[in-house]
Amino acid sequence: MSNENCIFCKIANGEIPSQTLYEDDSFRVILDLGPATKGHALVIPKEHYANLYELPEEQAGEAMKVAKKMAARMTDRLGCEGFNLIQNNGDLAGQTVFHFHMHMIPRYRADGQTIGWKPQEVTQEELEEVKKQICGE
Ligand code: AMP
Ligand code: ZN
Repeated sequence: MSNENCIFCKIANGEIPSQTLYEDDSFRVILDLGPATKGHALVIPKEHYANLYELPEEQAGEAMKVAKKMAARMTDRLGCEGFNLIQNNGDLAGQTVFHFHMHMIPRYRADGQTIGWKPQEVTQEELEEVKKQICGE
């Protein structure tokens, strides 16, 4: 199923050209047009799923397999020294294109990027409480 207003549907299915690094029946991996670093790529399923919640489990597993293969190849070819995989869900979390995609960001020494968060202080009681909220009845 594809969504006619979705740019990633069009890209993933080849209606809009892209710099494609890899393609199979289910996925396309393209270069991001606003790269964080050299080689920043996106793993995009050909089917339209807005986010991780909608993505079927099997496709989630396949997406990670594709990312793993590409990470090995890109590390070899680009000579990067690390890799971030990032996947945003919801505008609050930074998602701007509402078709599931996984960012693959090669990291280089002194690439000038900081990808991360500010660690907060937490007590053992607070951790227990959160665990209960997630895992409890
Ligand atoms: P997110 O903010 O996680 O939804 O990521 C969307 C990403 O898609 C951004 O990194 C954009 O630079 C990238 N992007 C948007 N439009 C295109 C496009 N037509 N081709 C390639 N990358 C795109
Ligand atoms: Zn789509």
